[in-house]
Amino acid sequence: MKLDVDVLRYLSKDDFRVLTAVELGMRNHEIVPTELIDRIARLKHGGTYKVLKNLLKHKLLHHDSSKYDGFRLTYLGYDFLAIKTMVNKGVFVAVGRQIGVGKESDIFEVAREDGTVLAMKLHRLGRVSFRAVKSKRDYLRHRSSYNWLYLSRLAALKEFAFMKALETHGFPVPNAVEHNRHCVVMSLVQGYPLVQVKSLENTDTVFETIIGIVVRLAEHGLIHCDFNEFNIMIDDNEKITMIDFPQMVSVSHRNAQMYFDRDVECIFKFFRKRFNISFQESKDDTDGSDEARDESGKPSFSEIEKSAGFLDRKLAASGFTRKDEEHIQRFIEGGAESDSNSDSEGVDSVNDLVEDLNEANIIDDDSSHLLEQDDGHESQEKDETCEAGESSG
Ligand code: ADP
Ligand code: MG
Repeated sequence: MKLDVDVLRYLSKDDFRVLTAVELGMRNHEIVPTELIDRIARLKHGGTYKVLKNLLKHKLLHHDSSKYDGFRLTYLGYDFLAIKTMVNKGVFVAVGRQIGVGKESDIFEVAREDGTVLAMKLHRLGRVSFRAVKSKRDYLRHRSSYNWLYLSRLAALKEFAFMKALETHGFPVPNAVEHNRHCVVMSLVQGYPLVQVKSLENTDTVFETIIGIVVRLAEHGLIHCDFNEFNIMIDDNEKITMIDFPQMVSVSHRNAQMYFDRDVECIFKFFRKRFNISFQESKDDTDGSDEARDESGKPSFSEIEKSAGFLDRKLAASGFTRKDEEHIQRFIEGGAESDSNSDSEGVDSVNDLVEDLNEANIIDDDSSHLLEQDDGHESQEKDETCEAGESSG
């Protein structure tokens, strides 16, 4: 995914106004009718149409006239809205090189005014799993908000909330700086993903530190669920930092035991294969951790669970709600079919929309009321929910 931020410089206030209007329209429309964009943006003398052309040229929007004339944001368009907001807030002043391509994200370096380099993660939920999304179309149909914008925003919100909480509780994670839309800004971790490391000075210590993190997480009520050599960073002093939190679950999750064991097994397997570590030996070499282990040296979830803390529940009160968690988990686990109680809560009501709008403070209040008059289009686009879009780039 190329992020040509130079374009940012050439975009005017009106450009961003129209881009924001499309974003707002997408809360209720997969493809936002051009005429609605114009009504939200309220530019004089048909200015909206000229601006739309410009945004299309820069690939910030996608044009679709298959059912009616309309537009939707591209990833790039959404990126720009988030980046612009971050820049306006003074979080950073420049976007640099891409430092990571994750399964469902793109990571860039960004620079603060004083030259400090941070990491910016742009979530792209739905990019890899698009087919899964498509197969859930029946389910999604009832939730116009269930699209990549929404999911990516949820993922960022969750990641930010968890990173903050984990940091507060002394876990080695990046410092969570700011989030907006699908974007999380955090401190830049020195070092490399463990997967790139061929040999270690203190293999046993590193191993025990890593297993210790999984155990301590569970003791706090949480399971990482993607705890592996790609999401563990290590620096030249063999200091460990854990990253990548959107899929974390509570120890009260129905599959908690399985997720925990899987996280542990990933680490055991990696160390066995890469570093030839023999676990019986390392067991005697623990740095004071005395948690229950089974005969192969693996920590026992059922023992830890008994005394697990409440970080999972605290997080539920952190702005990332239980409903958010349900939505994101259902997507991640692909459990759409378990949606028997077909509630309609997932759909943003116009009130939700206006509320979010005011909160985000991205467009003046008197434009948002226009959306209230516009419920008529909704039924037209149910078949377009969760388009693949330009996701392969
Ligand atoms: P995904 O959820 O897509 O797997 P990750 O958060 O794991 O995304 O990030 C992908 C890659 O980007 C990581 O493997 C790492 O190389 C790099 N990365 C992510 N966050 C940081 C960070 N804060 N500092 C340095 N590199 C990072
Ligand atoms: Mg990752």
